[in-house]
Amino acid sequence: MNSRWTPILMYHSIATPSDPEPNQTSTSPERFEAHMRSLARQNLRGVRMRDLHKAVSVGDAQGLVGLTFDDAYDDFLYTAVPVLKKFDFSATVFAVAGRLGESNTWKHMYNPEPRKRLLTAEELREVLSQGMEVGAHSMTHVEMLDLSEERLYQEVNESRCLLVEALGPAVEGFCYPYGRSDQATVRAVRDAGYDYACGVHRLTDEDVHNLPRIPMSNRDGALRFAAKLWGYSWYEKFRAVVHPYYTRLKMVRAAREPQSR
Ligand SMILES: [Zn+2]
Repeated sequence: MNSRWTPILMYHSIATPSDPEPNQTSTSPERFEAHMRSLARQNLRGVRMRDLHKAVSVGDAQGLVGLTFDDAYDDFLYTAVPVLKKFDFSATVFAVAGRLGESNTWKHMYNPEPRKRLLTAEELREVLSQGMEVGAHSMTHVEMLDLSEERLYQEVNESRCLLVEALGPAVEGFCYPYGRSDQATVRAVRDAGYDYACGVHRLTDEDVHNLPRIPMSNRDGALRFAAKLWGYSWYEKFRAVVHPYYTRLKMVRAAREPQSR
């Protein structure tokens, strides 16, 4: 994708959040519908990543917003898709290929961890027949930064093979678990032949295999939603410039600290 920034929204589960839900996995159906209505009112159209990728590559992405859903929770099909259809939007859902029909038993940042059912292969075929796109979100939802080359290959390549086998059509997109990527993971995804990949933060340069996304949650009321939609590109550009210096500063400080601790 070229340098003109196109917003891509990142959701997980569309369900009423349990109380408390520190991992912010859920966005309530009402809030999600309000987000979609807000896009429609601004004459913006939510689309699958493959459509956005094609539109950007021919310089025709004006008015488009990428919609993505990580992990492929069952509520994507039963709650999110009906809302998307109402606005004539489409979206991409990223499935954990080795966990279809199971639950999200991988590591979460905070306790209590959410437990939610993941879509089966049959349900993902239904997702496709509703005009949505399915991408790969690794085999096991492992943190990919410290994997051996062999394991990285498995997570990136086998997830794609398994989804193609189970669903039929080509799998064009990848999504990094926890949004974590570095040069090695981005290279592995590019080498595997994916057309695009979604992360959260950009690394340094804009890269079609590490597209930054705007994380959305139930906390995003109307004002926050608008601010994130229009302000996030500036935040990401600022972060890309400042972050390398900040990291270096931290390393210098750590080296200067007394070694006694
Ligand atoms: Zn995930």
